[in-house]
Amino acid sequence: MKRLGALLASLLLAGSLTACGGAAAQEMQSVQVFAMDTVMGLQACGGETEAALAAAEDEIYRLDEALSRTREDSAVSRLNSAAAGTPVDVGEELHDLIARALDFSAATDGAFDITLAPVSSAWGFTEDVYRVPEDAELAALLACVGAEHVHLEEGTAVSLDQGTRIDLGAIAKGYASDRMAAIYQEHGITHGIVDLGGNTWVCGGNLEGEPWQIGIQDPARPAGSLAGILEASDAFAVTSGGYQRYFEENGQVYHHIIDPATGRPAESGLTSVTVVADGTAGNGTMCDALSTALFVMGEDRALELWRSGVYDFDLILVTEDGRLLATAGIADRFRPDDSAGYAYEVVS
Ligand code: ADP
Ligand code: MG
Repeated sequence: MKRLGALLASLLLAGSLTACGGAAAQEMQSVQVFAMDTVMGLQACGGETEAALAAAEDEIYRLDEALSRTREDSAVSRLNSAAAGTPVDVGEELHDLIARALDFSAATDGAFDITLAPVSSAWGFTEDVYRVPEDAELAALLACVGAEHVHLEEGTAVSLDQGTRIDLGAIAKGYASDRMAAIYQEHGITHGIVDLGGNTWVCGGNLEGEPWQIGIQDPARPAGSLAGILEASDAFAVTSGGYQRYFEENGQVYHHIIDPATGRPAESGLTSVTVVADGTAGNGTMCDALSTALFVMGEDRALELWRSGVYDFDLILVTEDGRLLATAGIADRFRPDDSAGYAYEVVS
């Protein structure tokens, strides 16, 4: 089951705006794309709008293929199916993305982990045939999980240890949003929103010269009900939550974000994590990786990483016990939605 709350919310908020470019007014143009298992919405205005949107759409489809582990001919699949220890030339783009993923693992004490692929599959999240694995099965799979089982080899090659397989699902949409930002820039787009399902990039503010309004889904209510609204003109905002993909068995809910320490859905006391950073190139990927990792790490460790300054980002957290937290760097741009009923706190 998936929900498209963030997308709906930000598109709704954008809907009232129609023209840009002052005297030589231009229409805001939009396309919808289905890729990476997600409904995606792109809007752009100014510059070579049509060419930008066409290039962006092509790029999303290219990445959907290139980063997929379910398409047999993708570089990820070639790497996953190679014999243990064999270097596979995955090309510069994927090599660099894997290198960044390994850095995020190190910085999050392993909470972010692209080698959870066999564990996600055991829960059925890859094939949509859900089941609850036995403890012994998870224990056996966890022996092949961990960033230390992925090796960056000469040039653009990568090798994996016996039994290790990678899944870039927690970083692919963020990387795609970085690519969208680059394409918009190449085409001189002045105002735009790219919403890749919980991964949002906004640029230029809206057509009335105000910041864009990004709806943050309330994880406890139906799609489109908000926990709050973030205002931003040039930013990435990525949300991870257990509500985005899950199944139920015997009254228990099992969601898709796995704690590498247990091989089970993370139970950290958080129901949603939104990571916000400015529009600097590469920040889309960072926000996506961190939103997943911090969901696993929980409130205290998430805030510890925020305070450490290792990465430059801000946070909106929703906790299981009914609190909504925003870090000081975005508090003046975030408006909680009273109807969600959370106790709101600003963290410094
Ligand atoms: P979404 O893809 O729903 O936007 P995320 O970015 O949080 O959400 O990524 C979740 C996906 O990443 C899962 O479906 C799974 O493929 C993979 N994954 C699950 N747990 C982890 C983890 N701890 N580290 C890295 N990838 C993970
Ligand atoms: Mg992620």
